[in-house]
Amino acid sequence: MGGRTPCGDPVADLALVNALELVTCGGQGETADEELGVIEDGALLVEGGRVSWVGSTKELKGKSFGRAKRTVDARGCLVTPGFVDPHTHLAFAGSREDELERKTTGETYRSILDSGGGILRTIQETRAASAATIAEESGGRVAQLLGNGVTTVEVKSGYGQRLADELKMLEAVGRLKKASDVEIIPTFMGLHAKPPEFRTTREYVDYAVRQMLPAVSVARTRPLFSDCFCETGIFSREECSKYLKASGASGLLLKMHADEFAESGGASLAAELGCVSADHLGRAGSEGIGEMARRGVAAVLLPGTSLYSSIPYADARGIIEAGCHVALGTDLSPNSWIESPQMVMSLACNGMKMTPAQALLGFTRNGARAVARKDLGFLGVGSSADFVVHSLPGYRYLPYRVGGRYVQRVFKRGKEVHSVQED
Ligand SMILES: [Zn+2]
Repeated sequence: MGGRTPCGDPVADLALVNALELVTCGGQGETADEELGVIEDGALLVEGGRVSWVGSTKELKGKSFGRAKRTVDARGCLVTPGFVDPHTHLAFAGSREDELERKTTGETYRSILDSGGGILRTIQETRAASAATIAEESGGRVAQLLGNGVTTVEVKSGYGQRLADELKMLEAVGRLKKASDVEIIPTFMGLHAKPPEFRTTREYVDYAVRQMLPAVSVARTRPLFSDCFCETGIFSREECSKYLKASGASGLLLKMHADEFAESGGASLAAELGCVSADHLGRAGSEGIGEMARRGVAAVLLPGTSLYSSIPYADARGIIEAGCHVALGTDLSPNSWIESPQMVMSLACNGMKMTPAQALLGFTRNGARAVARKDLGFLGVGSSADFVVHSLPGYRYLPYRVGGRYVQRVFKRGKEVHSVQED
């Protein structure tokens, strides 16, 4: 915690000054631009890992409390909250780079899955790997995300699909948690794909509810969320309903993969069950979206997956107009191996016509909503001091100039966890 000077003024642990543009994502108002809360020549103070003051550098200099043990000069730079990536499958073994090649010859996500590839192949490879191997391979992906400004990431299990392997995946996620500066939020994805040893999805759902959920919900790395793949031909609305109700009874918060390839009633089920978020929504109907908005279910959109699976983008503008909070995620997985929030923001703007302000809120304030965290995704008094210094002149560059290295420094709870030395 910060100390005090002999005159009694508090001394902060850290002061950040001279940000060309400090985007707090903590503004008030109806529009995304107002919610961004942009401060020119911005500054902030950190005490005990939390933001204790936000304003302009000029204001800070005029105040006696502007002293700090350490000062970070963000001259010429954009500063944003640390990105919150609310949807990933980054814990896995192996890879599927050859499937991208198959897709270029006309195969689809579904035809590859039906031939035993896709998720089924990753299940095979992940079952064959140890927790240590999964953690090691996945650690490289977490490091890439950190280098791209991610300070919090949700990570799903779901490539085990039998008790011992799901527990092993959660153990791998636990190892990642310990080893990484990025905050990791674990999710148990009990219904991802029917494994080959079960004849019907019904039998498998029964197994997931009776055998897996009770054990997983008291596992050493206890998941915060439970998730399922509600989709025509994958798991039905009824099966997902049964599974999610049992998950809720086990004390887990709820998420859903909903209406990605076809309208299967996922969005309305998410609303009915009070899910924290419903994700994908490429084919969700307006009725289901309206119910989600009324129940405060966050919509997590994943345009990178539309790119990799050649499926339509979600109707982001319609979902925003309906009143849902729209978050964005990388959906980092062996299908869509994307480690760049900036690339996803660019797809969101170019493909779904979200504004740059809406896209940035998707990876900050609304990303935090999608993982049920009130202390993340914005920079304001009391928020976690998670922030990123970008060598870009303003937030509009985030979805506009992509593919290079613009993240200069990353702070998590006020501690510098990543930096790039400039020549
Ligand atoms: Zn997913």
